[in-house]
Amino acid sequence: MANKDAKGNKNITVEEARRIVEEELREITDRYRELYERERRMSAELESLRRTSSSVESSKDTRVNTAACTACGGTGKRKCVQCDGRGWFYNQRPNTRERCPICNESGYVKCRGCSGKGYR
Ligand SMILES: [Zn+2]
Ligand SMILES: [Zn+2]
Repeated sequence: MANKDAKGNKNITVEEARRIVEEELREITDRYRELYERERRMSAELESLRRTSSSVESSKDTRVNTAACTACGGTGKRKCVQCDGRGWFYNQRPNTRERCPICNESGYVKCRGCSGKGYR
């Protein structure tokens, strides 16, 4: 059986045509395998990255849980003693409210035991 291929060769045999097709197929398969390998490597890398970041997060959690600051109960804040947590206090004359400069009117100050971190 004689045929014309895309390149315009005359009288190409079935055997020749099959060889050309097989060669092209092998090339495509190699390229596909290469891409597949690359994709596998990348997903493995991504997985290891994900595992690293999650282990960092969990170790952070345990550090907070195991060594929570006892002075502030892990909140990092303590009630302002100057104003007793109100944010203001009476100054000399009654009914004269003074803004608390120690806690900046928030009623809370940074815990000195953990410097506001909540854990030691
Ligand atoms: Zn504390
Ligand atoms: Zn205060």
